[in-house]
Amino acid sequence: MYRSCEKYLDNDELLIFLNETKEKYGRYFDFESIGKSSLGEDIYLVTLTDKDYKHHSEKPAFWIDANIHASEVTGTQGVLFFIERLLDEKHKDTSKHKELMKKMTYYLVPRFSPDGARAFFKESNSFRSTPLETAYEYSNFKRHDLDGDGEITLMRWKDKAGPFKELAGYPGILVPREASDFGLDSETYYQVVPEGTWTDFDGFKKTKSYDFGYDFNRQSPSFFAPEGIQKGAGTLPLEFPETRAIAEAIRARKNIFASNSYHTYGGFIIRTPANVPESSIPLEDRMRSEMIAELLQKSTEYTVHSGSDDFVYVPGQPLPGTFDEWYYLHLGIMGMTIEYWDVWKHAGMSWKKAVEKYETLSSENMVKLLKWAKENLKRDQYFKDWTSFEHPQLGRIEIGGFKTAFFLTNPPLPFLAKEIENVFEGSFAVSRMAPLAEIDSVVTKKIEGNVSQVTVVVKNVGYFPTYGSEQALKVKIIDKPVCKTSLNGKSGDFKIISKPDVDSIKHLKGFSDGNPRLSPFFGTGFTHEYEQQLTWILQGSGEFTFEINYHKGGVVRKTLTV
Ligand SMILES: [Zn+2]
Repeated sequence: MYRSCEKYLDNDELLIFLNETKEKYGRYFDFESIGKSSLGEDIYLVTLTDKDYKHHSEKPAFWIDANIHASEVTGTQGVLFFIERLLDEKHKDTSKHKELMKKMTYYLVPRFSPDGARAFFKESNSFRSTPLETAYEYSNFKRHDLDGDGEITLMRWKDKAGPFKELAGYPGILVPREASDFGLDSETYYQVVPEGTWTDFDGFKKTKSYDFGYDFNRQSPSFFAPEGIQKGAGTLPLEFPETRAIAEAIRARKNIFASNSYHTYGGFIIRTPANVPESSIPLEDRMRSEMIAELLQKSTEYTVHSGSDDFVYVPGQPLPGTFDEWYYLHLGIMGMTIEYWDVWKHAGMSWKKAVEKYETLSSENMVKLLKWAKENLKRDQYFKDWTSFEHPQLGRIEIGGFKTAFFLTNPPLPFLAKEIENVFEGSFAVSRMAPLAEIDSVVTKKIEGNVSQVTVVVKNVGYFPTYGSEQALKVKIIDKPVCKTSLNGKSGDFKIISKPDVDSIKHLKGFSDGNPRLSPFFGTGFTHEYEQQLTWILQGSGEFTFEINYHKGGVVRKTLTV
């Protein structure tokens, strides 16, 4: 079994994994620190490719980032599984994987927010991204592990105006109070907040808008909205070392054509963009986006949602400042978000709307969930019995309730392997949609005397175009293909007499273009836009080298003797 399936790795264990993998698979695996977190931890980026065949920057690349949110550590395991599977010598597809790594590069960020992950492993804390305290006075509540059991759970106390009640027949299990639950004296209702204390507590006033802290996935420049509009966003896009490091790392790697961002939870595939309607993006990109979602959906059976009108907490208000949207809208890299793990589906529930999973739970569904938990987990893995506690501000309360970390938010260990393998299969399939420039033919012929003609045909044999997306063209972030030649003459007069016009060296479309819906019955429209023919005329004799860099489509290079 892979190590990624056996144990959730904390920061120190992650570094050991990376060092050991590098030692064992140095030909294929490398990692580097792309920056330090706010609290001084390294943010690692893994490069996976066969170093014996071209530099990693000379091949089409796929990007995955994970664990931008502190508690969403399944994504890290998913990245590690990706590494283990591609390097697995015993897998039935080993030879294919090795062939693939000659042609492709993977850039993988296993842990976007190491500070957040460290805090999470320390006390199952549910900070959003980082334990850094916000610079704003939007909250006067701080989470702490008050009873010293190593976890931050919940506090409850009786209140006739409370919005929770115990589920009949299930002592300790709280469910939302129903709208028709009139406040009879014979009934008991509760207030519930995370374990913690208030700052400036006056003995009476308690806010319920407790603080999750900063959210790095509201920090990208795409439709950024500051703190007062979007909680957790901060003041400026990319103002934290983590978000800045990721932005610079992805921007610097011009061979990346598509990306996946790993989150938990819910079992969702969320398509970008969110803040402009999907219908407004170019048709070709939409088709590619749908194909990506289809490949992910096939292996995961997660549901697919549009970030613009479906996966929204408030109708008409898509999430601002997310990284996947920024990758697409500003960098032309087709991004997509995957939310691992759907405990409700395991428990046999279904939902009308995606985000309902985060917000509501009927008594009927709670019974189903408890049944599943009882059958599959030990009680102390998902529930802490309510225990009386003398709160420094509230007096006598109870601490306890659901432990969400490896129940709701991340799969319990026995369920981890299947989950990360399914997502791997989807992401791996998406990565193989890469554009790939290859030399199809090179023909050299003598024209007269010592003059020869070299004719080269280059093809994009992949699905994506070598420019990545129509959005990349639109925002003019693409670099033109760069052609370089060099001569190593046997005779002193070896020179190039004529060469292809710079403008004739163009990006190449992939087999997805022109006819997105391919019919095996009626043939397809035929276009030469996936290939190009280039001609050089040379005088004299010697070695002639040409190289064309298609960036996202990789570099083609050949040396021939004339
Ligand atoms: Zn998340």
